[in-house]
Amino acid sequence: MPTSNSIAILGAGLLGRLLAYRLTQQGQSVVLYERDGPQAEHTAAYVAAAMLAPFAESAVSDRLVTQMGIASLMRWPAWLAELAQHTTTPVFFQQEGTVVVWHRQDKEEALRFCQRLDRAYFTEQGHDVRSLDLAQLTLLEPALVTRFMQGIYLPGEGQLDNRALLAALLEYLEKNHVPIHWHCAVDACDVVADMVIDCRGLGAKRDWNQKHRPTSLRGVRGEVIRIYAPDVYIQRPVRLLHPRYPLYIAPKPNHVYVIGATEIESEDVSEVSMRSALELLSATYSLHPGFGEARVLEMRAQCRPALADHLPKMTWDGTRCLSINGLYRHGYLIAPEMVEIAIDYLAHIQAGTLNSTWIAQHFWRQLIE
Ligand SMILES: Cc1cc2nc3c(=O)[nH]c(=O)nc-3n(C[C@H](O)[C@H](O)[C@H](O)COP(=O)(O)OP(=O)(O)OC[C@H]3O[C@@H](n4cnc5c(N)ncnc54)[C@H](O)[C@@H]3O)c2cc1C
Repeated sequence: MPTSNSIAILGAGLLGRLLAYRLTQQGQSVVLYERDGPQAEHTAAYVAAAMLAPFAESAVSDRLVTQMGIASLMRWPAWLAELAQHTTTPVFFQQEGTVVVWHRQDKEEALRFCQRLDRAYFTEQGHDVRSLDLAQLTLLEPALVTRFMQGIYLPGEGQLDNRALLAALLEYLEKNHVPIHWHCAVDACDVVADMVIDCRGLGAKRDWNQKHRPTSLRGVRGEVIRIYAPDVYIQRPVRLLHPRYPLYIAPKPNHVYVIGATEIESEDVSEVSMRSALELLSATYSLHPGFGEARVLEMRAQCRPALADHLPKMTWDGTRCLSINGLYRHGYLIAPEMVEIAIDYLAHIQAGTLNSTWIAQHFWRQLIE
């Protein structure tokens, strides 16, 4: 790895901040360029629900995402504990599993969901999907038994407070005097550095699509609503299976719940539509009557950066730029593993030891284009 002041990171969203954090910890000198401001309000990283759900997501994702998600879930607690030693911003994290429920008339959805889950892989990893009867559901999430009599439990899944994480990473970087150029929209060719890591998410679309035509980058609109519901106590993330409005609720500290998310083939990031708001809020109300008195704190839309196969990719331009993109709806789920792979990959580039045999040994070889 270069030890000179030579690593420029484009984009201080999720990946950019995490990479800067890890590289700074390792004694590297990095400089960040970010189009937005320090709060990153207009990024996917800020809007996300930050659920860490490798098992539930296996129903709709490739095994690579499941593998990277499980590996990342093992990294998050240690990373957050380390971060807490150097910062004053607490980052809420929990790993109490996910509860999945459905209304009686939607039992076919539950069957389909179970069929699509990568159960063989969970079992191999020492986990299992558990069916919950009324008594077991009552033990895990008593608030849900007002409307549901059964469910599914996916142990080991987690979630974190994304906004607190972004703030804590920023605090760490500032304390370590990492230069960050805010409100500075750049391309790789604009910055002077020995090495560039492009983490601009959807902001890299034009460059990415010029260079990597077969795997073109696009945005997938997602809408989320934050509510304050002091009358409802749900401890862990809950997914509602529904043929038209599948929904998740991610509980954050102080009775705040993030409800999401729509998935719309559009790069429109204007306000949440009335239809989406109605669907998300009605589905939430159908979970527990106490949500009826919840207060709507915020509604937001942003785009997930997605590639054609919905898998992340890492590409090296052969000279000085590593581009990482396509984290789609799994950024928080897979970011720690992605960051470690990127750092390892760069180290091999620097040492001149990068070759196809080394890449072929790893489960993540599909990442490399
Ligand atoms: C509604 C919604 C819900 C989600 N829920 C989850 C979830 O529950 N779990 C999960 O794991 N993931 C979730 N995600 C996905 C996750 O947020 C993304 O995968 C992740 O944020 C992608 O990280 P990134 O760093 O690649 O991009 P981003 O976080 O978008 O960061 C890119 C950064 O680059 C900056 N930038 C862009 N162009 C330029 C430029 N020219 N110059 C400088 N800077 C630039 C941007 O301002 C931004 O700060 C969700 C996303 C959305 C939208």
